Amino acid sequence: MAKNEFAKYRAALEAKLAEVERELGVALRDRENVSVQKAPDDVDLAQLTAERELAITNLDRLTSLKRQIKAALARLEDGTYGVCLECEEPISPNRLNAVPWTALCVRCQEAADSRRAGEPEPLDLLLEQDHL
Ligand SMILES: [Zn+2]
Repeated sequence: MAKNEFAKYRAALEAKLAEVERELGVALRDRENVSVQKAPDDVDLAQLTAERELAITNLDRLTSLKRQIKAALARLEDGTYGVCLECEEPISPNRLNAVPWTALCVRCQEAADSRRAGEPEPLDLLLEQDHL
C-alpha cells in the first residue's frame, strides 16, 4: 500500500477514535443518569430499565469499536494494515474506505457474521415458528 494511503487511513482512524471516545464519555454519563437505584418513585422503572439497557448496549458497541480502531492503528504501525486477518488476502480499498478499522475482508466478515448468527438448522426454524 502506498505511503499516502496509509496517511489517509491513519487520519480516518484517528478522527473516528476521537469521535468514539467522545461518544463513550456521553454513554458513560447516560449510564450513570439512568441508574435504577437512584430513580425517584414517580419514574417508570420499566422505562428506566430499558434506557439503562440501551446505554449499556451503546457502551459495549463503542468499547468494541474503540478496540477495533486501536488494533487497526497498531496494524498500520507494524505494516499489516489492509490485509485480512483470516485469509491474509488484501482487503478491498472500497471496504477500507467505508470501514477503515475492519480486520477482515468482505468474504471472511460474512462468514464470521453468519457463524455468530448461527446457521439456522431446520429444527431451529421449527422451534422459532413455535415461538411466534
Ligand atoms: Zn479474508
